[in-house]
Amino acid sequence: MRFRRLLLWIVIFAYLPAMMIALGSVDYRKWGAIVFGSWIVLLTLSVGFACLARCPRCGELYHTHGPTFLPLRRCLHCSLHIKAGKKSPEGDLTNQ
Ligand SMILES: [Zn+2]
Repeated sequence: MRFRRLLLWIVIFAYLPAMMIALGSVDYRKWGAIVFGSWIVLLTLSVGFACLARCPRCGELYHTHGPTFLPLRRCLHCSLHIKAGKKSPEGDLTNQ
């Protein structure tokens, strides 16, 4: 679940440098369109992945409550913190 959130943020922040590279090229209109198009696809996929992540405690969709998608650090249904889902607390410290 942390990986899915990380993937989502990577996709969001990868857009700016990718677009800058595209706009810096000779064929910037074409590359800009390619970067924008593939970024939209990647963003949709990562948001989809993040939406489908399920809470380990209550089994509901962690980041979604009805039609709303909120990438918070707590479950929207039982308020389980995102770090509480990890099995080893020691590994949590080394990963940060
Ligand atoms: Zn929950």
